[in-house]
Amino acid sequence: MNDEKLLNFVKEFSLLLERSPSEEIIFTEGKGLLEKLIAVDDWLPEEFTKTHPQYYQQYLLYADPLDRFSVVSFVWGPGQKTPVHNHTVWGMIGQLRGEEKGTPYYRQPDGSYQAGNSHICQPGMVDTVSPDTHDIHVVENNLQDRASISIHVYGGNIGRIHRSVFDPITGTEKSFVSAYANKLVPNLWNSP
Ligand code: FE
Repeated sequence: MNDEKLLNFVKEFSLLLERSPSEEIIFTEGKGLLEKLIAVDDWLPEEFTKTHPQYYQQYLLYADPLDRFSVVSFVWGPGQKTPVHNHTVWGMIGQLRGEEKGTPYYRQPDGSYQAGNSHICQPGMVDTVSPDTHDIHVVENNLQDRASISIHVYGGNIGRIHRSVFDPITGTEKSFVSAYANKLVPNLWNSP
């Protein structure tokens, strides 16, 4: 276990955000920091790696007290999958363990959502989402026999943000707040 890695990431990411960077800088310099964090899988405490038999788990690792960013461990059991959903803030998905499949969805003139090209994330790779360009997607564990884990960084406290899931066929939008699997986090906010 290397306890310094997450702390160093949070420090360096906070310093980056002090500069009020554009999304382009976040997706280059910030992405580089996340790539460094996930390069070697030797730091994530065991309690944030646990699967649930039914649902993918979202463990909060850090929430910035000014709500500028949050860091979350996403743990997928075999075959687990999100609905079609958005984020409303920028996001980066860094693959730490296993393999995940991401599929962007695009709104059609008739209101439905069409899947784009899927891509597979291997350990060390970082995927992005952005409300300006590609905010709606589905993510799933690409492995049927074991867990996959990715470290997500978002431009807000993602577990508290009101966002949406979509029925891809009818286009019906439903508001949701994702919250976190760890309800007790010694930080400066209250779980919804
Ligand atoms: Fe997502």
